[in-house]
Amino acid sequence: MAKPVPAFTSTEDFFFKTPLYSVQQIDYNAAMKVFRKSFRVDGYCPYCRQQSTFVHRPTSQDSLPSTDEKPHFTGQVALACARSELAHIIVFHCRMASGLLQKVGQYPSFADIALDESKNYSKLLSSEDEAEFHRAIGLAAHNVGIGSYVYLRRIFERLIVNRFEEFKAAEGWSDGDFYGVRMDDKVSLLKDHLPPFLVRNARIYSILSLGIHELREDQCLAFFNVLRQSLVVILEEDKKKKEDLERQKQLEKEIAAFTKPDKELPAPTLASLGDSKYITKNE
Ligand SMILES: [Zn+2]
Repeated sequence: MAKPVPAFTSTEDFFFKTPLYSVQQIDYNAAMKVFRKSFRVDGYCPYCRQQSTFVHRPTSQDSLPSTDEKPHFTGQVALACARSELAHIIVFHCRMASGLLQKVGQYPSFADIALDESKNYSKLLSSEDEAEFHRAIGLAAHNVGIGSYVYLRRIFERLIVNRFEEFKAAEGWSDGDFYGVRMDDKVSLLKDHLPPFLVRNARIYSILSLGIHELREDQCLAFFNVLRQSLVVILEEDKKKKEDLERQKQLEKEIAAFTKPDKELPAPTLASLGDSKYITKNE
């Protein structure tokens, strides 16, 4: 069975989330909007190193899409970042034949942009997770879908195992409660210590496993962004929870250390504080 070709959904998806050479079906009207009309689109700017809005101003040099139902076109689309329209430009080479659209080149490369974007998450990750997250994004950017799932799954597994090891003594769990049971059961065992988004969406793990064992490359790639962003949400929640616990622990320590002040000592006067900056000139 020939694999179905996905339909063009938006300029944002096409220019910023679709790897080179991936094919999409596009009709004449949508093709005219992409290549002949001005538009604005949100995406990651590798020059600003953050999300930005890009502007497309079509030139007249490229060949026009032919007017039949399955348009042909080949040419360049330059998107200029609204923060610096002359310097921050991403250039795409696009090809459309028989109504099938693909990017056949771009600068800066899709992988460079994706990897640069992933550096924003470095602060959430251990160095081991960071290296593997980076690898997952790099592979997906080069159309290696199944391989990218392997690395995402390893990050997921590591979070679960680390959490078990952190809490097993306090909770009185034995290794047998955890190792050797299914991931669903691991997540429900650890549910009070895991990010709520992960607990609600533990299915992510089975999707990752399905990708590794059963899905095709293109099916993995089509869902990669959802999984990547889900993992970021999980890591952000996890980091926030750790910081909250740390802050609470510190405050509890300070509250426990509080001792009632001695009543016999007189309250300090301004003069006894011995600091002239507290005493106004009139005194
Ligand atoms: Zn920019």
